[in-house]
Amino acid sequence: MAAGSIPTRRLSPEAPTLNNDPKISLDCPYCEASICQSLSWFKKTYATCPSCDKGLSAGQFEAVIADLEAAMEASTDEMVHGKPHGGCCGKTSCG
Ligand SMILES: [Zn+2]
Repeated sequence: MAAGSIPTRRLSPEAPTLNNDPKISLDCPYCEASICQSLSWFKKTYATCPSCDKGLSAGQFEAVIADLEAAMEASTDEMVHGKPHGGCCGKTSCG
C-alpha cells in the first residue's frame, strides 16, 4: 500500500494496516484545542491546526501516534482473539 512518499521515521518495521484511516483526536500543542482528524492527517509532514491555524508537523504528534497505534494494534489483537469488550481504550471507566 503506497500512500504517498512521506518520509516517515520508522514507527514499526511491519507497518500495521489496521483500519485504513481511523479518526483520532489529539490536542493541539499550541491552543490545546482537540483536533479530530484521521490518522493520516496527523501523519502529514505539515498541517495546520483547524482551530488556531498554526503549523503542525508530523514530528509533534509522532510519539502520541506511535502510542495510539500500539494501542490500536493491541485492541485489534483483542478483537481477533474474540474479546467481547469493545471499549475504546480498554479501561472500563472510559467513555
Ligand atoms: Zn491550535
